[in-house]
Amino acid sequence: MSPTHEPFDELAACYALGALDGDDLTRFEAHLARGCTECEHALAQCREALVQPAVDLREVPPPRVKRALMERLARSRARRPRPARLGPGLKWVASVAVAAGLIASVVATYVSARYEQRLGEMAREASALREQISQQRQALALLRDPATRIITLAGLEPSPKAQGRMIWNERDGGILVAGGLPPAPQGKAYELWAVVGGKPIPAGLFGVDAEGRGSARVEPLAGGPEVAQFAVTLEPAGGVPAPTGPMYLASK
Ligand SMILES: [Zn+2]
Repeated sequence: MSPTHEPFDELAACYALGALDGDDLTRFEAHLARGCTECEHALAQCREALVQPAVDLREVPPPRVKRALMERLARSRARRPRPARLGPGLKWVASVAVAAGLIASVVATYVSARYEQRLGEMAREASALREQISQQRQALALLRDPATRIITLAGLEPSPKAQGRMIWNERDGGILVAGGLPPAPQGKAYELWAVVGGKPIPAGLFGVDAEGRGSARVEPLAGGPEVAQFAVTLEPAGGVPAPTGPMYLASK
């Protein structure tokens, strides 16, 4: 192995990982095109070492993986005493083995980080879907009941474009869906009120997403009294027993 060939050992390792780009890639491919048995062997060895961890690696590793690999190769080269007494062939085998081991460990770390992230995402998606299905089942059950009413809530002064629908059943409670509301400020939440006999009764708290949409399952009121009106006000996040803040939505 000639000293002038040394940079290509490192490039071969990165090339096998699919992590070469720009000048490095051009330089290495030109070198390969001229024919180099050392690099061909190195590539074959690296690819073999990569087969296992690379099976599920379907994306080109991002630049940080390449950086991490380059740094680790550089560190290990600096730490290792030069194996001066090994013949050229053995030195090459040792350097490829070290490079392949490092690549495998960098790739394994990258793969496991991606999988942990993906598993976390899947768990969150599954829980969100379960919540959606449960809400849709409740809505369907409510809609099958002839006693269920659908009540429209209109936007008031703070957000005239806001809208709400209440699917309401005096015996089973209901579901509120709202849209076009501004996100509640820090420490605040929207509170729903059911007006019975002229008196507002707290009926639950909800927030809205970045698009201003929110929904809430609303429990039936004790004794199942007939609700004359629904309204939504902005209140302290913990909720209050009687409305204090501005009214954003109200039914007729
Ligand atoms: Zn070469």
